[in-house]
Amino acid sequence: MNKPENLIENGIRLDGRKPDELRPIKIEVGVLNRADGSCYFEFGGNKVIAAVYGPREVHPRHMQKSTSAVVRYRYNMASFSVEERKRPGPDRRSIEISKVSREALEPVIFQEYFPRSAIDIFVEVLQADAGTRTAGINAASIALADAGIPMKSLVSSCAVGKINDTLVLDLNKDEDNYGQADMPVAITKDGNITLLQMDGHLSRDEFREALEMALKGCEAIYEMQKAALMEKYPAQLEGDVIE
Ligand code: ADP
Repeated sequence: MNKPENLIENGIRLDGRKPDELRPIKIEVGVLNRADGSCYFEFGGNKVIAAVYGPREVHPRHMQKSTSAVVRYRYNMASFSVEERKRPGPDRRSIEISKVSREALEPVIFQEYFPRSAIDIFVEVLQADAGTRTAGINAASIALADAGIPMKSLVSSCAVGKINDTLVLDLNKDEDNYGQADMPVAITKDGNITLLQMDGHLSRDEFREALEMALKGCEAIYEMQKAALMEKYPAQLEGDVIE
């Protein structure tokens, strides 16, 4: 798509959403038989799968930590996930996204329960439409719960951005390409921010407003994550509180 004149007109975005509206979300828990936990997550045009293995032995052994588990996160984009074929394999972008996504989840995992072991998280992007790191974190958080990894809370993630001087929640690809700012955020249930990145420009006031908007978006996503887990584990979770 060529740069449109306006990405938002009369308060409605090109895909029909209001400024503070998320794209549709679809969640399936436990889609992979061989993984200890897994999740398929659709976030608008993004389609991602997360697989969790562990706690399990660490290879290579020198990566072991004597007092806690090591958490490893590999974000990968399939070569067919974008319009032009993406060269397979890790690149600077996927290495950075893997690192920040791991750091977004580590604070909620009780790593000290599993010394000398590894918790491996794999995120495969099957279709990309801006916001894949947030979709990956949402999926991974559910897959960790599905694997039975003890966590303090789920982590929920979405981006907020600016198009035509208007703050909008959850940018799609065209808004990301032609917009003025893009700020992915991840939070825990208690409101602790575990990921905050930003491209572009926002004033201080816009930043504050954008953060509020992202936090509201994450709260809505949290409810959907919780509902998906409750659906998979109705008996086990009855009376329990997922935090
Ligand atoms: P995120 O997917 O988390 O928003 P970026 O802002 O880096 O991460 O990427 C935005 C979007 O740009 C991606 O979701 C994808 O649609 C597209 N994109 C990223 N890398 C490539 C690539 N190598 N080739 C084609 N499109 C890409």
